Parts: sequence; C-alpha cells; structure tokens
Amino acid sequence: MRDSILTEEHLMFKEAVEAFFIKEAVPYAEKWEKDGVVDRDIWTKAGAMGILCTDMPEAYGGMGLKDFRYNSIVTEVMIKLGVSGPGFVLQNDVMAPYFERYFTPAQKDKWLSGIVSGEIITAIAMTEPNTGSDLAGITTTAVKKGDHYLLNGSKTYITNGILSDLVVVVAKTDASEGHKGMTLLLVERGMEGFERGKNLDKIGLKAQDTAEMFFRDVKVPLENVLGEEGRGFYYLMHNLPQERLSIAVGALAAAERALDDTLTYVKERTAFGRPIGSFQNSRFKMAEMNTEITIARTFVDECIMELNESKLSNEKASMAKYWVTEMSGRVIDQCLQLYGGAGYMWEYPIARAYANARVNRIFGGTNEIMKEIIGRSMGL
Ligand SMILES: Cc1cc2nc3c(=O)[nH]c(=O)nc-3n(C[C@H](O)[C@H](O)[C@H](O)COP(=O)(O)OP(=O)(O)OC[C@H]3O[C@@H](n4cnc5c(N)ncnc54)[C@H](O)[C@@H]3O)c2cc1C
Repeated sequence: MRDSILTEEHLMFKEAVEAFFIKEAVPYAEKWEKDGVVDRDIWTKAGAMGILCTDMPEAYGGMGLKDFRYNSIVTEVMIKLGVSGPGFVLQNDVMAPYFERYFTPAQKDKWLSGIVSGEIITAIAMTEPNTGSDLAGITTTAVKKGDHYLLNGSKTYITNGILSDLVVVVAKTDASEGHKGMTLLLVERGMEGFERGKNLDKIGLKAQDTAEMFFRDVKVPLENVLGEEGRGFYYLMHNLPQERLSIAVGALAAAERALDDTLTYVKERTAFGRPIGSFQNSRFKMAEMNTEITIARTFVDECIMELNESKLSNEKASMAKYWVTEMSGRVIDQCLQLYGGAGYMWEYPIARAYANARVNRIFGGTNEIMKEIIGRSMGL
C-alpha cells in the first residue's frame, strides 16, 4: 500500500511484522520448501506476535481492528520477503470473516482464541475432484441423523490441507435444492472417518501444504453447523469480495517485488559492454511495467479503503482479482526474461515468483469466472 493510506500505527505494525518474518520465517523458508509444509510453531509464534486475525475481538486475543490495511500489511510483507509457506493469508483474510460473522457464542468460546493464537489452523474445503468453478455441482452430502450429520464425499486442492485442525466443509444437506441446499459444516481434526490424502506436489507455493480430504460417514454434531443450514452458498458469496481482493493484494506485492529486484539486476548485469538496463528495449519494458504497477496500486488501494467501508462491490473485487493477477503474471514473466538464464534458476527469487504467481489466475474463482461476474453486472 502507498504510505498515503497508512497511519503511524500501520507503519509501526508493518515494521514489527517485517522484523518478525525476517527472524522467524526467512531463515526457514528453504527448509519448508523442501518439506512441502511449514513447521507448526511458526503459527503460534505469529499468534503471539498478534499477526493472526487482527480483526478479532480483544476478548479472544485479537486486536479488534476492523481494518483490512492490517491484513494487507501481513500479506505484502510476507510476499516481499519471499515467505510463501505459512497459510496466514487464508486464516486472516478468508476464514476470519466466517468465524466472526457466523460462529455461535459457544463456537466462539470453543475455537476463536485458538484461531487467533495459531494453535488452531483452519481451512475451507469447497473444491472437489469433479467440480471447482461450478460450486453448485458439488456432490459431498451431509444427511441429518438425530443429533448429527453423516458427512460423505471428497475435496481436493485444500490450502492448509495437512496442518488444519478445523475445516469448513461445504456440503449439500438438500440435494434437490441446488445451491440453496448447501451448508457449511465445521469438521475437526480426529473426527472418525475424516482422512487426508497426500500433500500435493505443486509447481509453485512449494512450502504451503495443499491436500485432498476424504469424509466417510463422518458424524458431525449438529452444533458444528456454521451459521444456518441451507445458507452456505449465500455465506460463501458474501465473503468472496474480501478473498478476491486479498489475492489481488498478494499478486500486486509480488509484481512490485519482481520489478524492484529486476531494476537492481539490469543496472548491474552487463552485455556488450553496457548494463542491460541501458538498452532501449529494457528501459521501455521497465517503464511499461512500472506504469502498470502504479495504476494497479491506485486501484487496489482504493478497493482496500472501500472494503473497509463495506462498499466494495462483488464486480469491483472481481476486476481487481482478474486484472491485477493477469498484470502480475505478465510483469513477472517479463522480469524473468530480463534475467536471462539466471531467471530460470530456482535459487533466484524471480524464478520462485514466476512459479508462485501462476495460481493467482486460478484459485479464489478463476479469472474466467471473474469476467462472468463482471459481465453479468453489466446486465449481460
Ligand atoms: C494451490 C491451490 C490452492 C487451492 N486452495 C483451495 C482451498 O483452500 N479450498 C478450495 O475449496 N479450493 C482450493 N483450490 C481450488 C481452486 O479454487 C479451483 O482449482 C478453482 O476454483 C478452479 O476449479 P477447477 O480446478 O475445478 O477448474 P474447473 O472449474 O474445472 O475449470 C477448468 C477451466 O474451465 C474454465 N471454466 C469453468 N467454468 C467456466 C465458465 N462458466 N465460463 C468460462 N470458463 C469456465 C475455468 O476458468 C478453467 O480455465 C486451490 C487450488 C490451487 C491450485
């Protein structure tokens, strides 16, 4: 974010977050990448630092800060420092609003403090092997049997899939009702019949665990419904603008970092007796990228402030997600080109950025789905 939309408090928070990640995450990033998952204690350390769910009430250990700038600071700092492993952004930006809005008082007492302290890691399981974009087509079912639901089905590509302790599972409680028959269930680690598949081997975000989940006759108590039965689709739609903006925030930070790194590189690297940055092609490419990033920054910052005022529309959030992630992909690809062969080597952050950026156009709703939403908002 530009400093002009940050206060002294935000800047102090940013400094503390940077110091935290430099000490507690940067030295382990490579190990986590090799392991395909982070060490659990980074979660509790982040919780102790007040980095998780800053918007949660103080009674549960949060800071009660209803301000998406704090969330975005965490995302930006992580990406700029090359820390892509801990799934904090999912917990902070995607999951927290569900818990805050729809947890019953008893659910808050049971889980909220642990979610803020990092002892409880959360996940959301919507996507299935046979359906992702078409959410209404899911086949996971939850059938009411006395004091519990019997949950059956499987999910895939779930972020925090290995580490998560509490999973919001999207299931159909009424198969005849399409999306109106969808319910969110809170499935806990250790429930009988709940199993995880292997940690999936991805082309990027290698330190982040992404897994399949299987539910075979899992008895989910009725008190583990999130919100009301049959309202799941509505809750998902309600929370999506924040999730989509969150992806745009991360994608833009990645483009900014790539451009900064590349600027240094093209000034230092020489060819034909001069810095490669001095070729007109390099200068024009750098100028184009700087321009696009500057325009994106203005737009994303505006979206952040609109979200804070509950004014961010679904279509505007979709525009941010679609356009910024495409721009970020283009920029990172072009930056890699300016690195030449070095850009293809994993040891260079630009190579990792290239691999990590690709998924931004796919998850959180693909960019094609974003264009559908924007087009429909135009009455088409
Ligand atoms: C690293 C990673 C992490 C993820 N984390 C999670 C998670 O935590 N929880 C979760 O539930 N899911 C998660 N996902 C899944 C992700 O949200 C889905 O992959 C995504 O929504 C697309 O669904 P799909 O893979 O089934 O693709 P499909 O829906 O099969 O789409 C395939 C292609 O068809 C296009 N398409 C589909 N419908 C239309 C249409 N109407 N018009 C035009 N084009 C269309 C798509 O845009 C895409 O290009 C994750 C995925 C990845 C890769």
